[in-house]
Amino acid sequence: MKSNSNFLTYNIIKYYEYNTAKNSYMTQLSAKQNIQAIVKAIKTEEALLRQKHPLLAHQNTLGLIILLLSLSALIGVGILYYLAIIPAWACIVLAAIAASISHELEHDLIHKQYFSNQPLMHNFMMLTVWLMRPNTISPWYRRKMHLHHHKTSGTEQDLEERLVGNGIKNPFLRALVIIDGLLGLLINTRRFSKEIKGFSFASVFNAGFPVTTAYFAVLYSVIVFHLASLFAPLEASSPALVLDIMNVFEFLMVVLILPNIVRSSSLNFVTSSMHYYGGVNNMLEQTHVITSRLFMPFNLFCFNFGKTHTIHHFVPNQPFYLRQMLSKNILKVMRKHNVRFNDFNSIKNANAYNAQAN
Ligand SMILES: [Zn+2]
Ligand SMILES: [Zn+2]
Repeated sequence: MKSNSNFLTYNIIKYYEYNTAKNSYMTQLSAKQNIQAIVKAIKTEEALLRQKHPLLAHQNTLGLIILLLSLSALIGVGILYYLAIIPAWACIVLAAIAASISHELEHDLIHKQYFSNQPLMHNFMMLTVWLMRPNTISPWYRRKMHLHHHKTSGTEQDLEERLVGNGIKNPFLRALVIIDGLLGLLINTRRFSKEIKGFSFASVFNAGFPVTTAYFAVLYSVIVFHLASLFAPLEASSPALVLDIMNVFEFLMVVLILPNIVRSSSLNFVTSSMHYYGGVNNMLEQTHVITSRLFMPFNLFCFNFGKTHTIHHFVPNQPFYLRQMLSKNILKVMRKHNVRFNDFNSIKNANAYNAQAN
């Protein structure tokens, strides 16, 4: 009797194991099928758009025109502010939007979307987008880091996302990292050295030379000068040259530095919220889509990143404007194929992907 019941238990366990294995095989297979369906839908939609708008074939020219327009907009609002035609806040908002376009161009350039066979033009565009967003590291260095992001998304090796706050539990530390990349790097260096293969503080820090270095020099000198002025009459006692330099720095604060703080803080907040960290097994689990109205102001300053970046994980070689054009139809397809939307529980839980949720 006893041996019979043992035999039964044995069979039940075996049956359960068989079913678990079968189910996990099915889940794996269906994840793969879902991914294939999404990729196919994106490519089909792109082909349709290209058929409908033959202009899209002039990708190099389009990239260059968008760059020159956003650069002119950035310079234009700077001039309007200089002439006191617009107030500082309007200059900051408009310049942040212009700089956010240059960020999309930089990302496209990283993926060799423009002038990939013409190094001079390609590198000219890379330099211009760096100057328009001086608070990011060199685009040539970021290329390596970003391609690594595509390979290691969702794991502790993904330096690019971890540098902007992804996976950090403490909300105060997270906010600090999102707003000030340099402070974030300083605070996290010990942890990154232990956890990320090949991480070196010096190589990330030096990757900012000279543009990002100049940016932080201007930002911190304005902050220190104004803080010190609270305790001593610096404005009255400083030499004229120092005051002239401070005037130029303060102008730069309004036309370039503050707009880029608004832009990069919005982008860092959105990107570090929408990428999962931990528990990721496939592309469906690397990101969720952020369409929530709560994120609207942040999406505004990072060119709709929360709504469109997931598409980029499935098909990376596509210019940003195409992604915008096909997003409306593709978001529906992605929802149908198990991509998650507005997963706020994961944000609360340091971006962990919870396989049990929904
Ligand atoms: Zn990503
Ligand atoms: Zn990319």
